[in-house]
Amino acid sequence: MSTTDHCEALSLMPLAAAIDTILNEVKAISETETLNLYVAHKRVLATDIVSLLNVPPADNSAMDGYALRSEDLTTIDTLELIGTTLAGSPFTGSVNAGQCVRIMTGSVIPQGTNCVVMQENTETNGKLVRFIQKPDAGNSVRKAGEDIAAGQLIVSKGTVLTPAHLALIASIGQASVEVIRQLTVGLIATGDELTLPGQQLMAGAIYESNSFALAAMLENLKIKVINYGIAKDEIASLRDVFKRADSECDLVVSCGGVSVGDADFVKDILAESGRINFWKVAIKPGKPFAFGRLSQAWFCGLPGNPVSSYVTFEQLVMPLLRKLGGQSTAINQAPYFVAKAANLVHKRPGRADFQRGYFYRDVKGQLWVKTQDNQGSGVMSSLTNANCYLLLPQEQGDVNSGLELNILPFSNLFTD
Ligand code: AMP
Ligand code: MG
Repeated sequence: MSTTDHCEALSLMPLAAAIDTILNEVKAISETETLNLYVAHKRVLATDIVSLLNVPPADNSAMDGYALRSEDLTTIDTLELIGTTLAGSPFTGSVNAGQCVRIMTGSVIPQGTNCVVMQENTETNGKLVRFIQKPDAGNSVRKAGEDIAAGQLIVSKGTVLTPAHLALIASIGQASVEVIRQLTVGLIATGDELTLPGQQLMAGAIYESNSFALAAMLENLKIKVINYGIAKDEIASLRDVFKRADSECDLVVSCGGVSVGDADFVKDILAESGRINFWKVAIKPGKPFAFGRLSQAWFCGLPGNPVSSYVTFEQLVMPLLRKLGGQSTAINQAPYFVAKAANLVHKRPGRADFQRGYFYRDVKGQLWVKTQDNQGSGVMSSLTNANCYLLLPQEQGDVNSGLELNILPFSNLFTD
């Protein structure tokens, strides 16, 4: 490490400490709303859900076939067919020794019977059924309550509702759920050089791109986005837009203007309006990051470089949003995998590095990861050409080709 690197490393806040500070300060909102299950996907449950019912409510058949008494087939192989039971219209009679009932999947097991033989293992002339296999009691019977028992907690408060949760809640007959109200997040892009896509690019300008990724990530979390567009590097207009966003949002996220450039006015504005801490977080891409409170809203200031804003949003803003939005787990719990480096991975100790890479499995089943060639914090194509992050801890140095490291597939990142 050079002397400059060393001095810098001492002044950097470890990523875990930055996340801890944010999570200690931010409290979950408590306002709730009741939603029909149809529109509750990805929302955060505000109450525990306990089932009043058994699911399934009665013993029922797992197969199309015949319901019978297993003991009957110990001495004979043919039974008298006395009726049919369909899903939704149970057989009401009772089944005696030597008898069986045709049964469809999901139909309630008739009184007196204790098993089902699938029709593929039978022969029938319409009056008698011959059984090729001898069943045991309980075969192909789904027991009442085997999925959910009455009184059981089925989904806890703070859970993000997945498609499977919605089906589970519907299966106990509940049509609506109480969820935490939606958060509103404001996005502000700062910089005189920024131009909206679709407009003509003047000399020295670039297109504003960060807010498109941030808005999409917020949408993925079912968060309302207010896009305040581009603010010029100019005190009065910045003051105005921050004031407006403060009064309309739960969290205001800006990008750009938090480093030490001459035109970085965001710091000055925020110093006037709230409790804002500017941190140099030991994260790469990233580093300059601001966190604090405006008069009403929380605030995060992301670095302007596109990959930096993307990664710091995932690593620092998403935990904040999960906590604020009432989720029971604020830290992303996506599983990571161990892969071998397919090339030498350059890494200087001092910052946790989220390098972009491409992982694949060889014919022997070994996972490998190849890093993108250009890891520049402005190189957005390093993300679109990659399928994972290499998780390189703060004090990690170079990783030689063939050595193991942890990777986090992108597909795992947005599951909650
Ligand atoms: P800053 O943090 O304002 O010094 O910006 C760092 C770099 O990121 C500069 O090259 C900016 O032009 C670029 N940048 C800042 N904001 C954006 C944005 N919203 N979209 C694309 N690039 C940006
Ligand atoms: Mg700027």
